[in-house]
Amino acid sequence: MLQQRFDRRRFMIGAGSVGLAATMPSFAFGASGNYEAMVLGCIDPRLQQPMHNYTASRRLTGKFSSFIIAGAAIGVVAEPFKDWHKAYWDNVSTSVQLHNIKKVIAIDHRDCGAAKIAYGDAKVANRQVETETHRSAMAEFRKQMKDRLPALGVETGLMDLKGKIEMFT
Ligand SMILES: [Zn+2]
Repeated sequence: MLQQRFDRRRFMIGAGSVGLAATMPSFAFGASGNYEAMVLGCIDPRLQQPMHNYTASRRLTGKFSSFIIAGAAIGVVAEPFKDWHKAYWDNVSTSVQLHNIKKVIAIDHRDCGAAKIAYGDAKVANRQVETETHRSAMAEFRKQMKDRLPALGVETGLMDLKGKIEMFT
């Protein structure tokens, strides 16, 4: 019986991934609905509360999906993390399919250990250099979003440890 259930679930996932989702009734998926955004953030424990405050301030509570990965946008575009990239694209596509999200809000942060791992100490040596490192990674992130998921909006920002955010366009 358990095996049967598993096969059924696998069928559902398989069907979705080859593009039949549009022809299937929406109740086939557990969490379908219409949501505002996917928020992309870093795993850093210090940022979880500021991120929560930020999404609350934008009245997004309960209206967004989350993808948390070391470095946020850096985790999606930096070469040293290339093994992770597919997980992001698969997840954002899944959230489009399940949640009908309209945009991705990517929030990098200052003093990010993953930024240091990805690009080296010199690229985050002072506030100005750090800003430029994130600006460049986020420009690449927006470019890849436009290439792969042109229907989605994209916002990119850099948050400090107190939760103050600077948006990049
Ligand atoms: Zn980080």
